[in-house]
Amino acid sequence: MQKKKYLKKGKSHGQKINLVSGKSAKKTCALCKAQLHGVPHGAKTSATKKLSKTQKRPSAIFGGILCNKCRSMIAEETAKILSGKESLDLRAKPYVEIMLKSV
Ligand SMILES: [Zn+2]
Repeated sequence: MQKKKYLKKGKSHGQKINLVSGKSAKKTCALCKAQLHGVPHGAKTSATKKLSKTQKRPSAIFGGILCNKCRSMIAEETAKILSGKESLDLRAKPYVEIMLKSV
């Protein structure tokens, strides 16, 4: 949840300055920076906070963190480790460790 705040000048000669809360940005994958699906964006940050847990992110593992391609890549790396081969991608290592705990 990224929160942006910006100043908005009043209509009459800029006398009034109102603090307006920004809109929530589009969420991206932690590994490949692809745009994530199933996460709220565009609405005000106060509105997205009021949503329920399952409305904020998909219930799949790494939902709201990784995209589909990266999630399946992590699953493959986890399977490699379980079968005895070593993982090569160092960026995937922290996510593989999380998935090993859940398996
Ligand atoms: Zn990705």
